[in-house]
Amino acid sequence: MPRRVYIETYGCQMNEHDSERMLRLLERAGFEETKEPNQADLVLINTCSVREKPEHKVYSALGRFKRLKERKGTLIGVTGCVAQQEGERLLERVPYLDFVLGTHAIPLLPSIVQRVEALGGRVSETEFDAEGRYLEALLPEKGLDRVRSYVTIMQGCDQFCSYCIVPYVRGRERSRPSRDIVEEVRYLVSLGVKEVCLLGQNVNRYGVGMEGETDFPGLLEELNRIEGLERIRFTTSHPKDLSQRLIEAFSKLEKLCEHLHLPVQAGSNRVLEAMNRGYTREHYLERIDRLREACPSIAITADVIVGFPGEENGDFEETLDLLEKVRFDDLYSFKFSPRRGTRAAQLDRQVEEEVKQRRLSILQALQREITLEKNKALEGALEEVLIEGASKQSSRDVTGRTRSNKIVNLPGKLDWVGRLMPVRITKAYPHSLRGEAVLNGEVSL
Ligand code: SAM
Ligand code: SF4
Repeated sequence: MPRRVYIETYGCQMNEHDSERMLRLLERAGFEETKEPNQADLVLINTCSVREKPEHKVYSALGRFKRLKERKGTLIGVTGCVAQQEGERLLERVPYLDFVLGTHAIPLLPSIVQRVEALGGRVSETEFDAEGRYLEALLPEKGLDRVRSYVTIMQGCDQFCSYCIVPYVRGRERSRPSRDIVEEVRYLVSLGVKEVCLLGQNVNRYGVGMEGETDFPGLLEELNRIEGLERIRFTTSHPKDLSQRLIEAFSKLEKLCEHLHLPVQAGSNRVLEAMNRGYTREHYLERIDRLREACPSIAITADVIVGFPGEENGDFEETLDLLEKVRFDDLYSFKFSPRRGTRAAQLDRQVEEEVKQRRLSILQALQREITLEKNKALEGALEEVLIEGASKQSSRDVTGRTRSNKIVNLPGKLDWVGRLMPVRITKAYPHSLRGEAVLNGEVSL
């Protein structure tokens, strides 16, 4: 009987993708996935340390799995950003933990599992890999059960925003060769993938420092030529490196979807400077104008942090004002969370929790109104929807996304999965849309 692995994933798309890569490696080593920790021979917790909350979840997850260890001797490993940051300390703190695997050590996973199983002992592997082996493609060997896939195009980050732990836990910025990326996307398309989302902490710097390599708009052009691929997305784009060529790609490349996630973080120049973001609010607003000139239908989303050290009411008002001006389609907003080892954690004038919470609530209430208004504007519109699978809400519905990345639920059949359907939007909600497929001019079902 194959051995079973259960993987619990916290954090961003990069972590989700890393979990997938770990699963592929383990499948090659004879494991199969289980969604039931009780049935697992190996439990992996793939962690995030970007804020305090996800970091705490790791310890509560470990608490939950302690009994499994005691009852069945299940092997337990921690991977990802907390693993990278804590290394040996995690082994000391959690005596029943078998191994800790840092962000660059994914390719070592099968050999470490084998070693711990055969010889016992406990392992912590957190070296940064200068060779870049961790960036090699790990292609699925069997068919995929989905139509969208992530593709990592670069790892690490050299930006050192003053609040952010990522440069410390993911290492230096490094791009993959474009021929590897193109090959991987072609292969995914051969398995039925229709949409790829390219991943990197700042994809606008793709190819920088690699002699003879194409830049990010050049990579998009190459991918746009791949037959059978229908849609391209990417995340994340840094406002300071958003070039005019990339902006124009949204009007030129028919497969590039009309959605850009462009984290702004704050609307006050003083705070942006303290965050070491490298742009001003004026620059950000100018880039938004250029984007909307090039592609009027583009949906724009962003991240915002409230309560950065020294943020005063006036600074926060400027963030609200920026939201009113830009009118984002959606926003991911966070309370500043001090991260050990980052510059912002040591700054004076940390903002009180109560003030952070109040600002977050005000910001989120404003954005809820804007998001609903944006979604309502789509009622009656005809949108192209890539059907992804069964809807969670009703067994008679399928679900998919518009090119602008909005979720649409509609009556439909599972054999539509993978098809691009014209869909009439009938109703807008804060987090999704409802629609009806239009077939040969007729509304279906
Ligand atoms: N590289 C991307 C970028 O430049 O925006 C995203 C990196 S991070 C994983 C995702 C988001 O988490 C950031 O955009 C930021 O809003 C938020 N974040 C990062 N560090 C944070 C901190 N210390 N406290 C609160 N939010 C934080
Ligand atoms: Fe963190 Fe800034 Fe790098 Fe994004 S660009 S990962 S926020 S340091």
